[in-house]
Amino acid sequence: MKILETENLSFSFQPGKPVLQKVSFGMDDAQMLAVIGPNGSGKSTLIRILSGVLKPEAGKISIQQKPLLEFGKKNLARKIAVVPQQTQITFSYTVLEIVLMGRAPYLKRFQLEGKRDLEMARRALELTDCEELAGRSIDEISGGEKQRVILARALAQEPEILLLDEPTAHLDLHHQIGFMQLLIQLKTESKISILFTTHDLNLASIFADQILILDQGKVAGLGNPGQVLNPELLSRVYQIKLKLIPNLYPNRPYILPEI
Ligand code: ADP
Ligand code: MG
Repeated sequence: MKILETENLSFSFQPGKPVLQKVSFGMDDAQMLAVIGPNGSGKSTLIRILSGVLKPEAGKISIQQKPLLEFGKKNLARKIAVVPQQTQITFSYTVLEIVLMGRAPYLKRFQLEGKRDLEMARRALELTDCEELAGRSIDEISGGEKQRVILARALAQEPEILLLDEPTAHLDLHHQIGFMQLLIQLKTESKISILFTTHDLNLASIFADQILILDQGKVAGLGNPGQVLNPELLSRVYQIKLKLIPNLYPNRPYILPEI
């Protein structure tokens, strides 16, 4: 049984200008799927649809074979957590307060967090190596730390699926690799299924189990890195000549522009 599945998913903001067209894919438990594709190819829109923020125009989405639209907001938040591309936090919350917000799907209206909520928040801080930040204000930590805190907030939701929109875009190489290794750890130890978007083809190649290539809202490729990352397809999608170095890591080609 697929943990997450879409079938012929289509969406447009304006009539006649499709942003996603008949997108079909599935994810298994504890699988890491990278969504790649040029700017404007529909990656962020896909994440917003999968997280229930936008309603699909046509097609189906199911979580463990149950239609996504049948989940109430709180129940959906217990299945899927999102790490958005930009998180605007306008108030100087502490890191612990931010992470506790992830417990909202488990609380009744106006109900205060209890012992278990605090426990889960602490555990999420521990998993993301943020324990020492707990008392700090969110606007007094670095970009890399903030990204881990937002991940901790998502993990406090105890999700089975994690959606991340360009999670490593603003991180230096050290923090990029550290963040990806953290995701791998969540996948293997906590059995969370992870979908992330990225512009870094090599990061996708090295870390993902499956890669979905979006091109103008359509699926241009889907499979493991060794299958889908071929130079002709990528050169067409990105409209530059790309070369592949195939044998650095088995079935995980390295991609370079031809200059
Ligand atoms: P990506 O994340 O792959 O760069 P997006 O999903 O953000 O692509 O955007 C896909 C297309 O949808 C783009 O053409 C973009 O201009 C359009 N789009 C995105 N958000 C909106 C919006 N809120 N209203 C109208 N068009 C939008
Ligand atoms: Mg985007």
